[in-house]
Amino acid sequence: MLAAYYEGQGRIAVRDVEGRPPAPGEVQLKVAFVGICGTDLHILDGDMDARVSLPAILGHEMSGTVTAVGDDVDEWVPGDEVVVVPLDWCGTCPACLRGLSHICYRLNFIGIDSPGALQSTWNVPKRTLVRVPSNLGLKEAALAEPTAVAVHDVRRSELRSGQKALVVGGGPIGLLIASVATAAGGDVLVSEPNSQRRQLIDQIGLRTVDPADNLAAVVDDWTQGAGVDVSFEVSGSAGGVEAAVTSLAARGRLALVAIHSRPTPVDLFKFFWRELTLVGARVYEQGDFEEALRLLGSGAIPTKDLITDVVTLSDASDAFERLRAGHAMKVLVDCGDSK
Ligand SMILES: [Zn+2]
Ligand SMILES: [Zn+2]
Repeated sequence: MLAAYYEGQGRIAVRDVEGRPPAPGEVQLKVAFVGICGTDLHILDGDMDARVSLPAILGHEMSGTVTAVGDDVDEWVPGDEVVVVPLDWCGTCPACLRGLSHICYRLNFIGIDSPGALQSTWNVPKRTLVRVPSNLGLKEAALAEPTAVAVHDVRRSELRSGQKALVVGGGPIGLLIASVATAAGGDVLVSEPNSQRRQLIDQIGLRTVDPADNLAAVVDDWTQGAGVDVSFEVSGSAGGVEAAVTSLAARGRLALVAIHSRPTPVDLFKFFWRELTLVGARVYEQGDFEEALRLLGSGAIPTKDLITDVVTLSDASDAFERLRAGHAMKVLVDCGDSK
């Protein structure tokens, strides 16, 4: 079997290695497609070397087919098409005991803290699996993980049908949030500085704005001076936070999606004055994955426009380069095509 290893200092090496049969409670998958995201790129850049143990097999967005099952696995049989929820929680911490295992205090993120999907054969605990509906192809199903992020974000935002939402940042997650919010009946505007990305989002039929073109005036005009009911901060920038806060209507909700690894200034006076709410939204719960697969099957997610590039597992490093170049939206690695 082939596996792609991150070896530090930006290097990816694809090697032919010996596989192993699934242990009790494990399911063996033939990996079909793996999506590469911004987090993977951060890892490759060495930003997360303190957390990732080398050599590391990355990949937390995937789809695949069951090929074998270990002892104590009755729920799955070879041929089942599945996606993996890449979260492994402790079950005993205060978050887990409250039913919030997705934000477990000792969360192990599969594909970052432990080996991920960038290999042709992958053994995973049976509890991580979610079934792919029969109306959905494996290529599109590989978008389940980032789509589940968007489903979770929209759910946390409490956006209701007919409400207006501003999405600050039009990368893959921003575009997915905009699509999920639209499917929920929201009226959506995406703010994105990159003209190529704006063009792609326009093509899909979503409304976009260049934040350099007086975003405040555009929002004012669009909402007749009221402001938006919900804003999603997906940019990770201080300017993005300011735009997301300033655009909100009275009692508006700001859903914080981006990872702000350093403290970012927030104008708390605006929270006081308009009685705003700030909610964090991190990863997803099991139900978000099921809803993501349902939305992907329903055609509500523009998968064809989102998946801009597909490379083989042998060329895995090319997937990272394409993403880094900034032209790609979602790059998939075809793990079944290589061996
Ligand atoms: Zn990701
Ligand atoms: Zn826990």
